[in-house]
Amino acid sequence: MDNSIESNLFEIRKTIPNSVKLVAVSKFHPAASITEAYNIGQRVFGESKVQELTAKQEVLPKDIEWHFIGHLQSNKVKFITPFISLIHSVDSLKLLEEINKCAKKDNRIIDVLLQIHIAKEQTKFGFSPKECIRTLNSISLSDFSNIRIVGLMGMATFTDDENEIRREFKTLTSLFNELKGTIFSTSADFKELSFGMSDDYLIAIEEGSTMVRVGSKIFGERNYQ
Ligand SMILES: *Cc1c(COP(=O)(O)O)cnc(C)c1O
Repeated sequence: MDNSIESNLFEIRKTIPNSVKLVAVSKFHPAASITEAYNIGQRVFGESKVQELTAKQEVLPKDIEWHFIGHLQSNKVKFITPFISLIHSVDSLKLLEEINKCAKKDNRIIDVLLQIHIAKEQTKFGFSPKECIRTLNSISLSDFSNIRIVGLMGMATFTDDENEIRREFKTLTSLFNELKGTIFSTSADFKELSFGMSDDYLIAIEEGSTMVRVGSKIFGERNYQ
């Protein structure tokens, strides 16, 4: 098998059930690589830098479903709210408020995931499970009329230890189930779990992921980050 984007995508799709959404993470790869994937039917792409995303969005087909997966600064939210389909990485109340405000201006309702810190590395972003519950209890979801919280997102520790990865994924699914049974018990929208990347997406699917974010296994190694 060659290592073209087409064959990589084809191979990965064979391993993913239809109920799981494949987000093709195209960060640091050129628009031409996205076009290759687009031409064989891929429509969902994930980016982690605002400037890079807006530059690509301008030149690529308008039926692409763009997902923002990186750390998002409040002052940059306004650049993506006109078109973004899903923001995976909401990690503060301030960011939630800013997205709601910009979405209102754009006359949109934007789907978001709350990012939960499940990894051992301190460098990764996100609420701790306790902070997440505390934050949700401190607000009234009806005040966020231009946002729909559709689930949770997380990143496991970068490790070969499969048990550790499973343990971290289970932290995420158990928080999800707790929220589903309480704060979101009447919200049919709260149904997504975004976890699993190139090295651990098969484990993630076994552990209940509904959305995997796969980059290097599709597009090849990135030059940096
Ligand atoms: C880069 C990135 C990915 C994709 O990583 P790969 O290991 O290349 O599949 C997924 N999720 C997030 C949040 C990322 O930043």
